[in-house]
Amino acid sequence: MKVLVAVKRVVDANVKVGVKSDGTGVDISNVKMSINPFDEIAVEEAVRLKEAGAIAEVVAVSCGVEQSQETLRTALAIGADRAILIGTDEALQPLAVAKLLKAIVDREQPSLVMLGKQAIDDDSNQTGQMLAALAGLPQATFASKVVVAGGNATVSREVDGGMETLSLTLPAVVTTDLRLNEPRYVTLPNIMKAKKKPLEIVKPEALGVDVTPRLKTLKVSEPPKRSAGVKVPDVKTLVEKLKTEAKVL
Ligand code: AMP
Repeated sequence: MKVLVAVKRVVDANVKVGVKSDGTGVDISNVKMSINPFDEIAVEEAVRLKEAGAIAEVVAVSCGVEQSQETLRTALAIGADRAILIGTDEALQPLAVAKLLKAIVDREQPSLVMLGKQAIDDDSNQTGQMLAALAGLPQATFASKVVVAGGNATVSREVDGGMETLSLTLPAVVTTDLRLNEPRYVTLPNIMKAKKKPLEIVKPEALGVDVTPRLKTLKVSEPPKRSAGVKVPDVKTLVEKLKTEAKVL
């Protein structure tokens, strides 16, 4: 059994980005890039499944620019066995990524595909769901516990009303939530070992996928600055202000 894990190269979670002066996008020149945090959790979970003997191989896949190889090396250092980069300079939207991943799913035939619930740069929360639809696979999103046994995955997921547990027939798509696990600290020997693990590079054209963007960004701007708040002395004044000033009561 094989697990395919999708990992995206994103601006590091600790970096505060700004909007480009011409309003065409977010300025990411010279900022630190990292593996998307939810994808790191997905890799960690896949490696734990392998360590527990539930699956045999972990394959990491990333779509994007050449530097995404660094992201794949991080996945390999956590414990993935091999990696695939679908290399392109085109700005990829979730539908394009889902189509590329579908092509890899067709080729690799994994028992389980793991993705993050969302990429922290676009916050789309779409790719896993689109992949499941394109590939005709069952899906469980926002996983906080995954158990693989006997050709099934039992997934606990956090929903508005509490916890929900789904039983999926494999192969299936699972997207990870923050509480699934705490990724291990990557050690120097494992970083060194990762450099020697196989990393294949393919082009979208070789997979027969058209990655042309379907959505056009018209303008990117900073959110309006929030005006300073006021402290109220008591609940009575708060209710009064909510009625008269905020007009929400
Ligand atoms: P999104 O739908 O953009 O919020 O992304 C959800 C998940 O899809 C991410 O956490 C990744 O696991 C996967 N994903 C999105 N974009 C890429 C990409 N360019 N390469 C690999 N995986 C991706």
